[in-house]
Amino acid sequence: MKEPTRSKQVSDCSRPPVRWRRELRGVLIRQTQIAHRVRKLANEIERDFAGRDLVVVSLLNGTVLFLADLIRNLSLPMRLDFIGVSSYREGTESRELILTKELRLEVRGRDVLVVDDILDTGRTLKCVLDKLRELKPRRIKVCVLLEKKNCRVEKVRADYVGFSIPDLFVVGYGLDFAERYRNLPFVGVLRPEYYHIG
Ligand code: 5GP
Ligand code: MG
Repeated sequence: MKEPTRSKQVSDCSRPPVRWRRELRGVLIRQTQIAHRVRKLANEIERDFAGRDLVVVSLLNGTVLFLADLIRNLSLPMRLDFIGVSSYREGTESRELILTKELRLEVRGRDVLVVDDILDTGRTLKCVLDKLRELKPRRIKVCVLLEKKNCRVEKVRADYVGFSIPDLFVVGYGLDFAERYRNLPFVGVLRPEYYHIG
């Protein structure tokens, strides 16, 4: 099997659009970079899951934009379901995990692709993967848009990674702070003084 392309390392910020300059320190990943990388990931996934009974399991709510772009680039039969998990609520620190939606589709004997927004400590994915394994899928692969390499607490790895980013709190392209900024078409870095505003 061909080795997957390595995740892109990004660390430099560019200037945010004027509208967001007050709240954001910078744009870490631009819309065009995301689009290009998502197409690459979709190609890898297509190749690895060809001929399989694929169920995509996406973690709400941070994956909405990424998921939509990823699956629209997948030319292969698949089913889609969601698990609702919430760990951040109002802050930027990882807290206790709350399940807000259970999986409905049968995954026994099927190939599962878990899609998440960002792999940080790994606690969220560890919990979700433990739960999914009990349902006896044929195999589970993990796809994340972003990963923070140095923040892992649990031993979890993703098979498909969009971008490796430094340990910064990022928002946009689905990722929120207190449920805001999900609609930004790029990934940006929030100014620390905005972490404390509701
Ligand atoms: P973990 O359980 O791996 O520590 O964290 C995973 C979850 O925490 C992600 O799915 C995401 O919801 C949230 N998270 C971690 N880092 C960030 C970040 O930099 N920005 C935002 N908006 N959410 C994050
Ligand atoms: Mg999440």
